[in-house]
Amino acid sequence: MPEAATILSPAPRIRVQAMKEYHPPLGSRDALRLDFNENTLACSPKVREVLAAISAGSLTRYPEREPVEAIVAEHLGLAANQVALTNGVDEAIHVLFETFLEAGNELLLPTPTYTMYEVYASATDARVIAVQAADDLQFPFERLLAAITRQTKVIAIANPNSPSGSVATRAQILQLAQSAPQAIVLVDEAYFHFYGETVIDLAGVVPNLVVARTFSKAYGLAGLRLGLLAGPVEIMRWVRRVLSPYSVNSIALACLPPALEDTTYLDWYVSEVRAARSEFEAALDAVKVRRWPSRANFILVEIGAQHAEFVRLMRAAGVLVRDRSSDPGCEGLVRITIGTREQMRHAVTALNETLAILRGK
Ligand code: PMP
Repeated sequence: MPEAATILSPAPRIRVQAMKEYHPPLGSRDALRLDFNENTLACSPKVREVLAAISAGSLTRYPEREPVEAIVAEHLGLAANQVALTNGVDEAIHVLFETFLEAGNELLLPTPTYTMYEVYASATDARVIAVQAADDLQFPFERLLAAITRQTKVIAIANPNSPSGSVATRAQILQLAQSAPQAIVLVDEAYFHFYGETVIDLAGVVPNLVVARTFSKAYGLAGLRLGLLAGPVEIMRWVRRVLSPYSVNSIALACLPPALEDTTYLDWYVSEVRAARSEFEAALDAVKVRRWPSRANFILVEIGAQHAEFVRLMRAAGVLVRDRSSDPGCEGLVRITIGTREQMRHAVTALNETLAILRGK
């Protein structure tokens, strides 16, 4: 009989000491939400109609993801067996890492980047190799290329990246994939709609390229938890072995087709955010706040030593923003999500008031 302590301890491959925990600072968000890069308004009215028509009886059935995967695949110009729907991109990242990362492997991460890559990697025995961007926070392509070793098993690239808003070019992604044929290159296109450029057409063409997309951002469905992975059939077959067949619930599955179909709403929201981004950039420049160029629905700004006070004062003025000071290379930086023009005018008022207080000190 094994000792109780042995029974209760996790499988040996899990390094409990090294595991990172992540607790999103979500508490009490009853204000203008410019802190999580969500859609700040609503999802498509077509989705609302489908939601309203969901019957109690339909909830008694287990969700069936395959028919919806086929619809999504067609929408993306891919074969159905190249696409897996997931419980948000977070599950896609989790499953991909669980499937491919093990002891002796390396995960290459251009940093600063999306926190959850490191969190999920820390539940595996792989080593995280962080490749830090220069002060301009541009994609550290040359450094990443130089960091590839025979142990490199996954390279995770958020494109556009968070919190910087910077992008990797198609040529850079292709060169990384070619330079690390033993590795999977994950291109996380969570913010694709605000950028407009994609490599999803290469999913299945480049043998080691996998693309992730989410319905949490432009589509406005963060609460439903919908994401996807698209890649070569062989890789997707492995991913499906690890993925729970029921992780995407039936309400989310019902809402996905109308969300995809209503391109009018999506196009409107994206163009609204792009217009608001330009206006907000001008407002930041007017008050001489340093900002990083962004291709996403957020902007990283330099506040300096008063970053925590800035976030607190903005909250007091009704606007939630996100302190990124503890991200590598981001000391004194705050990330501000871009919403509609009307919302961002309110944010500019709060910004100006807050800066007046801080600069008056
Ligand atoms: N990838 C990136 C780069 C993100 O910023 C986020 C959300 N903040 C996600 C993935 C998570 O998306 P989801 O809500 O689909 O899990």
